[in-house]
Amino acid sequence: MKIFVINCGSSSLKFQLLDMQTEELITSGLVERIGIEGSCYLINDGQEKHRVFTDLPDHAVALQHVLDALVDPKFGFISSLDEISAVGHRVVHGAEAYASSVLIDDDVMNELEKCTELAPLHNPANIIGIEAIQKLMPGTPNVGVFDTAFHQTMEPAAYIYALPYEMYTKHGVRRYGFHGTSHKYVSERVSAILGRDDLKVVTCHLGNGASVTAIDSGKSVETSMGFTPLEGLVMGTRSGQIDPAIISFLMDKENMTIDELNNMLNKKSGILGVSGVSSDFRDVEAAADEGHERSQLALDVFHRRVKRYIASYAAVMGGLDAIVFTGGLGENSGRSRKLICEGMEFMGVEIDDERNDTRGKEVEISPEGAKVKIYVIPTNEELAIARDTLALTKDLV
Ligand code: ADP
Repeated sequence: MKIFVINCGSSSLKFQLLDMQTEELITSGLVERIGIEGSCYLINDGQEKHRVFTDLPDHAVALQHVLDALVDPKFGFISSLDEISAVGHRVVHGAEAYASSVLIDDDVMNELEKCTELAPLHNPANIIGIEAIQKLMPGTPNVGVFDTAFHQTMEPAAYIYALPYEMYTKHGVRRYGFHGTSHKYVSERVSAILGRDDLKVVTCHLGNGASVTAIDSGKSVETSMGFTPLEGLVMGTRSGQIDPAIISFLMDKENMTIDELNNMLNKKSGILGVSGVSSDFRDVEAAADEGHERSQLALDVFHRRVKRYIASYAAVMGGLDAIVFTGGLGENSGRSRKLICEGMEFMGVEIDDERNDTRGKEVEISPEGAKVKIYVIPTNEELAIARDTLALTKDLV
């Protein structure tokens, strides 16, 4: 069974084709600048990446090019689209309607439209991607896999904001959490490695977007992103948690509109905002090494924030068996992992420097016999989406 996985953004899309007999990747690629001048798609044939510049006015045209490339005999990926048994779509927001992945039908499409209000930047692109596939591959089942679904196990004490309760009942203002597919994937991996399903785990997905989740016996009980992905950790360009009173204060002092302020919090803050150098951790680490003080400060603020979440989540769960690092930074920066964990030895958190000198591989980085096991586990959201897609569609064919 071959599963096609797509992740649609407003002007881009990423895709993978997987053979689920072996869970091997057949090909992957991305499309950039959809509807913008200079649009192109890139497809990987295993040896090299082929980039093709062509006019891609919308997602349907972009996907048509990608599907043509998949069946192009020059690449030899598949000989016909009939070989694709189902398509898995990453969908950002499933609100309270979806606690797990779902086979898409008309009712689901209506529900996704309703969720758009909560994720105006993301869900419309996800919906467009599903509609394009429905048009281009009629009869092929589609599955929606939600970033929010895994966190639907949180209790009200974890997800209710201390606002007038009607803000929740009238407008759905509550904590939803994101990156759920990744947190679920790496927590299942750590359970499999340790052979236990009763673990108290904190998973740290640290990339451009970053979040921490507390997982007790396989269930998400707390997560750092909230109503939107803006809450929680310091990120590449997002502020994460701030005092909400800062918003009206700055609107007044800087004479900013709410849109300008939102843009500042989402696009100009985080390690970019503090360092003034870059949103990319590699650049900021390099600048700090050269003595750039604000870069060092940005990293210090980032590491301290992650530490706070790990320790407070251990308290919420009443214990801690394992910490997992994943995402571009979590998988590759031994220095960040070390600085985040430093100072938590009192609660059994300890890093083995030699083991921690690793990048992008699944490995334990705590010392032999450590009380809290610490792992680097590369995430694989596409594989997780493909697995859910297979599980929901295998009896249909
Ligand atoms: P996204 O949220 O866009 O999926 P990723 O998970 O790919 O992001 O993570 C991207 C971040 O990971 C970037 O800031 C990048 O600098 C950082 N990163 C990747 N490799 C390293 C490395 N070797 N050292 C430090 N940071 C790294």
